[in-house]
Amino acid sequence: MGNRSSRSTIRRHPERAVTDEAAEILARGLVAHVGFCEGEQPFVIPMSYHFDPTVPDRLYLHGARESRLLQVLASGAPVSIAVTLVDGLVYSRTAFNHSMNYRSVVCFGRARIIESEAEQRRIFEAMTERYFPGRRVGVDYQGATPQQLAATLLVEVEIEEWSAKARRGGPRGPYDADPSAPGTAGIVPIGD
Ligand SMILES: Cc1cc2nc3c(=O)[nH]c(=O)nc-3n(C[C@H](O)[C@H](O)[C@H](O)COP(=O)(O)OP(=O)(O)OC[C@H]3O[C@@H](n4cnc5c(N)ncnc54)[C@H](O)[C@@H]3O)c2cc1C
Repeated sequence: MGNRSSRSTIRRHPERAVTDEAAEILARGLVAHVGFCEGEQPFVIPMSYHFDPTVPDRLYLHGARESRLLQVLASGAPVSIAVTLVDGLVYSRTAFNHSMNYRSVVCFGRARIIESEAEQRRIFEAMTERYFPGRRVGVDYQGATPQQLAATLLVEVEIEEWSAKARRGGPRGPYDADPSAPGTAGIVPIGD
């Protein structure tokens, strides 16, 4: 895993590359922004997803069978997926140096349909556990019916390569370290 070609090479602030954190970021993320092309038209659609850091080259998406996104992905078209954790809002004494603290991953890959009902159930239950730790099928909720599974398309994206990038720390404007300078500077923490 990691970047293998120019498409996943970080150009701006390459020192912010945190490739070794990619799996952790994907494991903690809640929303995947999924980019694909239908003909000449690019789309980016927000989706829930499943990711298991013990199988780090796989990411799962699901939705209605008729979903454009899933139909395009199921055809084997290339896909790019971004997941972002926002850790803080960074304010500076200068307009230019306002920023955000974040950790983010961009993945490239291709998908295949998961046809096996047993595999679908395994992944959906693991996905529910990822979003709702401790919730158990058959105890806290009923599993999907065969009809619900039949109406749903589940795809497994094989991640061919990924990049991860993070910004950390306070504002870096020319006056931000000087408490006597006009204005204010600091970080608004977000999340835990
Ligand atoms: C946090 C989050 C998680 C989601 N998780 C899932 C999921 O796991 N599975 C799933 O199938 N769907 C999920 N959705 C809904 C998903 O974003 C799409 O709306 C949905 O998949 C419909 O797909 P479609 O093929 O009908 O879209 P399309 O027919 O391709 O959409 C047509 C147009 O509708 C608009 N559109 C579609 N979705 C959105 C949107 N969310 N916001 C604004 N405009 C939109 C866009 O302009 C798009 O080009 C999620 C949405 C959010 C915000």
